[in-house]
Amino acid sequence: MADIVFRNVTKRYGNTLAVDDASFTVDDNEFFCFFGPPLSGKSTVLRLVLGLETPDAGEILIGGRPVSTVSPAERNIAMVFQNLALFPHMSARDNVRFPLVERRVDEADIERRVADVAAKLHIGHILHKPPAQLSGGERQRVAIARALVRDPNAYLMDDPISALDARLREETRVELKRIQRELGKTLIYVTHDQEEAMSVADRIAILEDGKIRQIGAPAEIYDRPASTYVARLLGSPMMNILKSVRGEGGVEAAEGAIRIADKAAPADAVEIGLRPEDIKVRPWLDGEISDGRAGRPARVFEVEPLGGYTVVTLAAGQARLRALLRGQPDIRPDAMVAISCEPARVHYFGQSGGALAR
Ligand code: ADP
Repeated sequence: MADIVFRNVTKRYGNTLAVDDASFTVDDNEFFCFFGPPLSGKSTVLRLVLGLETPDAGEILIGGRPVSTVSPAERNIAMVFQNLALFPHMSARDNVRFPLVERRVDEADIERRVADVAAKLHIGHILHKPPAQLSGGERQRVAIARALVRDPNAYLMDDPISALDARLREETRVELKRIQRELGKTLIYVTHDQEEAMSVADRIAILEDGKIRQIGAPAEIYDRPASTYVARLLGSPMMNILKSVRGEGGVEAAEGAIRIADKAAPADAVEIGLRPEDIKVRPWLDGEISDGRAGRPARVFEVEPLGGYTVVTLAAGQARLRALLRGQPDIRPDAMVAISCEPARVHYFGQSGGALAR
């Protein structure tokens, strides 16, 4: 049992609040991701879990046990740093064995654990090869095997695949997710890549300046961001956030260029958020009379065809909006289109940027 609990944990460096009154529970066997911009406190959280730093206030529990007097070694948590590089002069097998040999684990045990992790990662057939003879993906799997071969209470990974090229990163994150599920171990994962966080995590904690802004399953955070800060962090293209005013029968944004006929819109909303995929775009018909329900006019500013989908940047009043359309629609720059959004898909935010319930 290795759930990891922070209760009101604060860590300062001089005047910097690296972690500010953080409370969260990472469940046993959970794939838990910390996500936030640089310097938001992600690495400090990991160092606190490992025991390389001591909290200034609050309490950390691992497996139900307060760890303030427990040394890093006794915590038995494996840290996987950014660099997953292999030792080039050793075979894949010796690379995987290395952490156990270093810890003087007895030979029979080493063999059993290497065989076990090799089977889980499907690398048994390549263990005799040196890294130079492995493909990029195989090298990654061997490196992960080396990280996983110990039997720790939990794994921590600090941006472990950020140095890989985009394709290998996509492959490796799929591997990681599957491996974590099969190993059934608690994994705390730090990344600055929102797509990676969304794709691998059971739950994500969003950090800003050492504060936890929201914790939830990826889909939950995406669908119900607690603030404009969180809303902007997850999603590509980013959520469109527009100043808004309450008008007759709904809200207006972009100097009236956008109207949302939502009688249930909260009275104290000052901004609305529209996900790019929620904006409906259709050609503007000749002689059409503008009507909020059927769509308001906007001009196509730019079109980015990305294969499976197309990003269209729209000029509506003074505002620029980005819409995400399926496939490759026949839309050209400078064309007039009608844009609309289902009221149920609109996010409302108040004065301080917090999400408002409708
Ligand atoms: P992240 O991992 O999200 O980039 P960090 O946890 O490294 O963020 O840093 C959080 C804050 O704490 C930053 O303002 C950083 O400058 C500060 N910080 C981190 N480590 C130290 C340290 N050893 N000494 C002084 N300040 C630090």
